[in-house]
Amino acid sequence: MDTGLNNAYLEALGIQRWVRRSAPPMEADTVDVAPERSEESAVGAPDWEVLQARVAACTCCSLHATRTQTVFGTGDRHAGWMLIGEAPGADEDRQGEPFVGRAGQLLNEMLFAAGFRREQVYIANILKCRPPGNRNPLPDEVVHCQDYLARQVDLVRPALILALGGIAAQNLLQTEVSVGRLRGVRHSYGESGIPVVVTYHPAYLLRSPLEKRKVWEDLQYAQQLYRELTPPHE
Ligand code: URA
Repeated sequence: MDTGLNNAYLEALGIQRWVRRSAPPMEADTVDVAPERSEESAVGAPDWEVLQARVAACTCCSLHATRTQTVFGTGDRHAGWMLIGEAPGADEDRQGEPFVGRAGQLLNEMLFAAGFRREQVYIANILKCRPPGNRNPLPDEVVHCQDYLARQVDLVRPALILALGGIAAQNLLQTEVSVGRLRGVRHSYGESGIPVVVTYHPAYLLRSPLEKRKVWEDLQYAQQLYRELTPPHE
């Protein structure tokens, strides 16, 4: 990447430039409510509209009682990158869109650093409803939501998934390993085998800004992987 542009990206992420001393580096036609058992929701392979309507009407777990609205997902439905976070917070619950609060602003900066505008990727969460008080998702909430996300991934068919934070990474990869140990390696999602790169959640970066440099490294790794996965046509 051009050094001037590189510096601008680092600045956008709030990272001080660091110089090494020595060397340079469902059936689609019916809109029905969500099924009682989560396995059934993928069977009909719903299209976007049906899926979104099912999510909006979902009462599968107790979170429906406390949400203002569901937060489905946003962005380019044909994107090469799909970003997956944890669950809506208060701002997202109010506005119906993922990552619109402070963490969302930082996510936009992270995306800019990776050469994307927010509208050029697809953004979704493990959960579609806000857990009260922003507590971590409970296992039954994740289970009830997982087919919705799986169908979103199927519909987008991204070249790469960027998992934002431990909850996203651990649920996508079915592991209990920490983000720190999942970073820097190519993982894969489910049967589709879509490559997954893991990085820290932007909310964690707001609390620990010194970790931004690691996110910058993860984004560079994801960019490199993406280039390998989508070589330009001759
Ligand atoms: N944190 C998330 O994981 N997702 C959002 O949509 C907002 C904050």
